Amino acid sequence: KMVKLIAGNWKMHGTADSLAEVRAIAEWARKFEGGVEVALCLPATLIHRAAEAVPGFTIGAQDLHHMEKGAHTGDICAAMLHDAGASMVIVGHSERREAHREADADVRAKAEAGLAAGLKVILCVGESLEVREAGRAEQTVAAQVDASLPRTAVDPAVFSVAYEPIWAIGTGKVAEPIDIEEMHRAIRERLVSAYGEAGTGVRILYGGSVKASNAAEIFAVREVGGALVGGASLTAADFLPIVEAGA
Ligand code: 13P
Repeated sequence: KMVKLIAGNWKMHGTADSLAEVRAIAEWARKFEGGVEVALCLPATLIHRAAEAVPGFTIGAQDLHHMEKGAHTGDICAAMLHDAGASMVIVGHSERREAHREADADVRAKAEAGLAAGLKVILCVGESLEVREAGRAEQTVAAQVDASLPRTAVDPAVFSVAYEPIWAIGTGKVAEPIDIEEMHRAIRERLVSAYGEAGTGVRILYGGSVKASNAAEIFAVREVGGALVGGASLTAADFLPIVEAGA
């Protein structure tokens, strides 16, 4: 049985006050050790303090620069994240693809940089409402996967793909189980074609309005290897029932 990965993405939320929630989540997650893998991807400014507060618990970042160093004002590279105590990073989130015009090639470079620095990587893909309504969701996501997957060999323990339909993010709308299953199967095909046997073990997470009330149904879908959770990961009260549903 594949252990599910349930990662919170705090996006641009959280200051020192929020460390109490990080502590509560980490402490509780320890009860499920072995049964589920839990992580919190925090704003860069919280990573170091959080990592110090909850040793042994996976703290991640939400983006990185693909270069090792240089004249890149405002950017943070993989080694810096690692140095701050992060052991995971999200790349290619739709909010970055949109707001920062990240293309598949950029996302791929970021994924490769993260893995090379020893960070676990969650690579995000997902279609817009317009694309889904035009009946092109599967081909669009498959193309995104093909173009943004690292070209290096991947270890399924440290590399996951998150399917996050853009229209389901922060909207309360969740994809139907059948649509999730079909898309995850399409992504699996691309992973196997890219990595062979290793591609069968890469976890494919679902993201988009996951909450306590729908988590069990989503986790029951074949090919769902976990979840990437936004809003419902900000407090222990909201996040822990999701973790429990995946354990
Ligand atoms: P919500 O769970 O708030 O819909 O966000 C999903 C997401 O974008 C996680 O990366």
